[in-house]
Amino acid sequence: MPRITAYEPAGAGPVRRLRSPFTIRQWSVRHARFLERLYTFFADILLGLHPLWRALGYGRVERPVKSVEQVVKGFLFDCRMCGQCVLSDTGMSCPMNCPKGLRNGPCGGVRANGNCEVEPDMPCVWVEAWSGSRQMAGGDHIQNVQPPLRQSLRGTSSWLRATAERAAREEAARAGGADAP
Ligand code: SF4
Repeated sequence: MPRITAYEPAGAGPVRRLRSPFTIRQWSVRHARFLERLYTFFADILLGLHPLWRALGYGRVERPVKSVEQVVKGFLFDCRMCGQCVLSDTGMSCPMNCPKGLRNGPCGGVRANGNCEVEPDMPCVWVEAWSGSRQMAGGDHIQNVQPPLRQSLRGTSSWLRATAERAAREEAARAGGADAP
């Protein structure tokens, strides 16, 4: 008979979680403004490298870039590599750490101390998101309604996808400008 297991939080055992009470994740939220600036700078570099990514093939560079993204964002945000990063809209608090996977705000179960109802030792990611967003220049983006998660993008690089999409938008805008009378 299959063993029925309870919800397993964040891929780490309860002992480790008690020893490491979300310190880095909370640091990132406290420094949301700094990380927002850093990401803007970094995104511009990635965009500047778009000709290189295109020459090499986005598909070919996906694996190494994804590995770096996983390590960096895993360390800073407990990233789950959903492939559609919304950190810039959520105060640098990753909503995929919500046990219910809510990407559009908290459920009704936030505890009086601001912690999660499913994981009582964990600060609600949405309480954290609001706090981080208040520091950010683009903090009001927290009110953006996030579309449903595209499961097919899980495990892919958000960095590369955002870069390719931005490059396509800029190329389209340039083409539109060239066509204008
Ligand atoms: S929103 Fe997605 S890509 Fe961004 S940190 Fe969270 S799991 Fe990672």
